[in-house]
Amino acid sequence: AAKEAGRNQFVLYDDQLREKRLATARTVERLREALTRDEFLVHYQPLIRLADEHIAGVEALIRWQPAGEKMVPPDRFIGVSEDSGLIVPIGAWVLREACRVVAGWHHRHGTVISVNVSPRQLREPGFGLMVLDALQTSGLPPQALILEITEGVLVDSGLVTEQAISHLSMLRSHGVRVAVDDFGTGYSSLAYLRDLPIDHVKIDRSFMPAPGQPDPAARTLVKAIIDLASGLRLGTIAEGVETAEQVQLLRELGCERAQGFYFSRPVPEADAARLIGESRDRLTSG
Ligand code: C2E
Ligand code: MG
Ligand code: MG
Ligand code: MG
Repeated sequence: AAKEAGRNQFVLYDDQLREKRLATARTVERLREALTRDEFLVHYQPLIRLADEHIAGVEALIRWQPAGEKMVPPDRFIGVSEDSGLIVPIGAWVLREACRVVAGWHHRHGTVISVNVSPRQLREPGFGLMVLDALQTSGLPPQALILEITEGVLVDSGLVTEQAISHLSMLRSHGVRVAVDDFGTGYSSLAYLRDLPIDHVKIDRSFMPAPGQPDPAARTLVKAIIDLASGLRLGTIAEGVETAEQVQLLRELGCERAQGFYFSRPVPEADAARLIGESRDRLTSG
């Protein structure tokens, strides 16, 4: 009987696995269609310069809007897109779209754009040239583009990933900047901060002190990250800032920029344009 039960469990597991594979295959198919049907859009979240609270830039965050359905957040489809390779055309679309939209803001207000790049994209031999082409087509200067990568892009099981490094080095020689996203959540050695082609670190939001209570451990960690980054002449950006106390702390510790719901959620293009314009007006009038 025990053997029987074991087999049934196995069958059940097998069925669930098949179900899951089918669901994934359906999602991949729908994502492929989404590209041709123009169902993706980009929202923009302001990046605030803490010294004067000016909107120095925006991060491009992809959204999927299937016809007649609720908007799908990236956590629900980026993983599948990476596994299937679809992130390559999807990521290229985001980059071109973001460069096109922000070129105008950059020329009027000096806005910079931060775009997320997945490890899969950096394994493509054509990645570097695609980025240069997106810049040229849009007229956005390379100095106005920041590519956000995660630690895993640069170092994989302790080994430096040469293809990624060579793309990023080439792009940096043109003036493009590189930020390490979700900094502190990976497991790589800190030596890569010194050796690899990067310009900024984005402190992961899990390091922000809990709101409403003293959180000395969080403060110690945030301070250590900011000191480490600035000691290496890297820019610092805090992610997931939600309260005035967190802003106060980041200022005290010398963090340069911050991003989070406290300032603004990611918003559609038109709203971002308005926020940037208002920020510019405050700056020139104040
Ligand atoms: P990320 O690059 O670390 O982006 C920050 C995420 O944190 C965004 O979620 C943003 O909405 C959210 N966030 C910002 N401020 C706050 C805050 O104060 N509190 C909280 N709780 N959350 C905040 P979103 O837009 O859902 O994106 C999730 C992740 O999906 C991104 O994390 C990024 O890894 C990925 N992603 C988004 N767009 C793209 C893309 O175009 N390409 C690739 N490869 N990945 C993308
Ligand atoms: Mg990011
Ligand atoms: Mg992040
Ligand atoms: Mg994050």
